Amino acid sequence: MTSAPAASAATSSVAAETPSVGLIGWRGMVGSVLLQRFVDEGDAAHFDPVFFSTSNAGGPAPTFENLEPQTSELQDAYDIDALRKLPIIVTAQGGDYTKAVYPKLREAGWDGIWIDAASTLRMDGSSIITLDPINRDVIDAGLDAGVKEFIGGNCTVSCMLMGLGGLFKENLVEWGTAMTYQAASGGGAQHMRELLTQFGALSSTVGAELDDPASAILDIDRKVLEAQRTGVDASQFGVPLAGSLIPWIDADLGNGVAKEEWKGGVETNKILGRGDSLAPGVERRGDAIPFDSLCVRVGALRSHSQALTLKLREDLSVGEIESIIDKGTEYSRVIPNEKDATVAGLTPVAATGELTIPVGRIRKLEMGPEYISAFTVGDQLLWGAAEPLRRMLLIAVGKL
Ligand code: NAP
Repeated sequence: MTSAPAASAATSSVAAETPSVGLIGWRGMVGSVLLQRFVDEGDAAHFDPVFFSTSNAGGPAPTFENLEPQTSELQDAYDIDALRKLPIIVTAQGGDYTKAVYPKLREAGWDGIWIDAASTLRMDGSSIITLDPINRDVIDAGLDAGVKEFIGGNCTVSCMLMGLGGLFKENLVEWGTAMTYQAASGGGAQHMRELLTQFGALSSTVGAELDDPASAILDIDRKVLEAQRTGVDASQFGVPLAGSLIPWIDADLGNGVAKEEWKGGVETNKILGRGDSLAPGVERRGDAIPFDSLCVRVGALRSHSQALTLKLREDLSVGEIESIIDKGTEYSRVIPNEKDATVAGLTPVAATGELTIPVGRIRKLEMGPEYISAFTVGDQLLWGAAEPLRRMLLIAVGKL
């Protein structure tokens, strides 16, 4: 094992055979999936990982087959001097960390590439939202122009574009809406645990009644409701999610819009290189497409779903639309709009752990021949978070 590089090699090291890459947030939901992808794909052959921690500096760095840490101890994720030695930093630690550390690093003269899962820098004029199967041209233009901030998109947006990107790439979408059904894991590891704990608590509240087929369903219903209202831990979500839903995600922007909903429109357009919030070097590909959402947290464990209404610019047949969606990216897959295929292939349980993004329920709507519905589910920890970061790292080191 080698020690951390002593000098500030900054960007020149990106060209090195195996540049040092700082990894922060590797213990969280997104970070764990990212590490697993590195391991599965043997990516660490292309870089030398240095592990950081916000809570356990000095503790043992994790070791995996195919992913040997450069230093055996975890580095302090707030140590600017340690961070500034690295040509590339990948963080899935969260927005508070980015806000606290990123400006200090730049002030300290760091000139490296920052790859981040948090939303903090996504809409900055100097950043690019990275989703290379959709916007590799935007990423390359930014790299050529010296852009150094590559940020993973909002999970729901990235999964939507990975499924329906073909229609956007062909400039067929005049406007769209997404009604989302987002999983607990979108909130992070603690939120997943809370949902499962709530399910367990509700189930044990009525354990005796469930064992007795003759028990009255209204008694079960009453007891569960009482537990939901008074008895379950809801410290992460604020209100119970198990057996319920929460029709608001992220901050209240004060104008009736949830921040998650605002992200849907602005990030979709920025990824596509449309509208005005573009990084230096990125050619404007057209006006922003009006795209709005209503975002709902549901009791799914992992993988976000969304029901879309799209107004297309042309009256295409369903077969033509399906073909464009299917060919949109290597990962999009059309599910026939039939009951058996839909319930088997278009659910969070079916999509979790898969890089493929199924898109189904594609049909024309009563409003007119250009109006279509679609339903898509994506593992928001893969294409919605870890995979764009992983691939951006490979692009940055010249391996993709
Ligand atoms: P997370 O699971 O809460 O992990 C973030 C950090 O929390 C970890 O790196 C870890 O830091 C600390 N932590 C504290 N207790 C933990 C525990 N019991 N288990 C694991 N980690 C724990 O957050 P996340 O969902 O991965 O999100 C990270 C960033 O990605 C956020 O900015 C988020 O908005 C963004 N993002 C998330 C998703 C998603 O679906 N979850 C999708 C797209 C983008 P230390 O090891 O340093 O203590």
